[in-house]
Amino acid sequence: MKIEGLKGDWVTEPLHDDFAQSLRVARMLYDSKTDHQRIKVFENPTFGRIMTLDDVVQTTEGDNFIYHEMLTHVPILAHGAARRVCIVGGGDGGMAREVLRHKTVEHVTMVEIDAGVVEFCREYMPALSAGAFDDPRLNLVIADGAAFMRETDGGFDVIIVDSTDPIGPGEVLFTDTFYGHAKRALAPGGILVTQNGVPFLQGEELTNTMRAFKALFADATCYLATIPTYAGGPMAFGWGTDGDARQVPVEELTRRFAAAGIDTDYYTPDVHKGAFALPGYVRRLIP
Ligand code: SAM
Repeated sequence: MKIEGLKGDWVTEPLHDDFAQSLRVARMLYDSKTDHQRIKVFENPTFGRIMTLDDVVQTTEGDNFIYHEMLTHVPILAHGAARRVCIVGGGDGGMAREVLRHKTVEHVTMVEIDAGVVEFCREYMPALSAGAFDDPRLNLVIADGAAFMRETDGGFDVIIVDSTDPIGPGEVLFTDTFYGHAKRALAPGGILVTQNGVPFLQGEELTNTMRAFKALFADATCYLATIPTYAGGPMAFGWGTDGDARQVPVEELTRRFAAAGIDTDYYTPDVHKGAFALPGYVRRLIP
């Protein structure tokens, strides 16, 4: 669409009533409806290729590393011996890319509702998955993540919920029922992490998830990272476990990180520890 006073075409996010971000479309590469949602892939000079679902930014080539590194390396290195990982959502392949960089991970089940997202991201944003879909350790299941979690035998060391916001198909992934099934699907000492929106703008979403986590897990909190295109301040990631993985000292995280031999652009063991330090307005959103 056009925005008065600005040159070119723009995509404006319809996420909030009083606040919106717009991204300039230098070139539209793909714009179509899947069975579940409208998908666009376009180029923007600052962020590279951008994928939106129903006009909400899902991922960009430029800043996805922050989101994907923080939702994978934090739980996997805190766990210390993760062999079986489940990703719910994650259709662009960025989460699988980062999980599979851990050679100790033997099996990844990725449950994505929309085959179209996988297909179009593989074609138009191949840098996101960087070959992850061809890794024999990845089992891609096209299904509703909530239905999968209800049925699965589980045994996952880490479950990562890389969902859209709680509107449309992603809504079921923010329910107490889903969280309960996810907890049951964790192996002893397992960790559940979730994308929980930007607390400054989506505080209720975090409060609801944290209320559910507190009822389910001995250790329930959130951690933070700032991702430029998830506008409005830092994004919150839910963290739930019955184990003591949050207490792993930075020296041990540093040893595990070095042993993993992974190069990162955002994650460091110090950032890992610091991400759990919460400002007052976020703490107050946690019941
Ligand atoms: N990082 C983004 C954000 O914060 O908004 C989300 C990334 S995108 C990969 C989220 C994925 O979740 C989409 O591919 C979408 O199709 C998928 N998804 C939405 N609802 C789902 C459900 N019920 N089960 C499985 N996948 C779902």
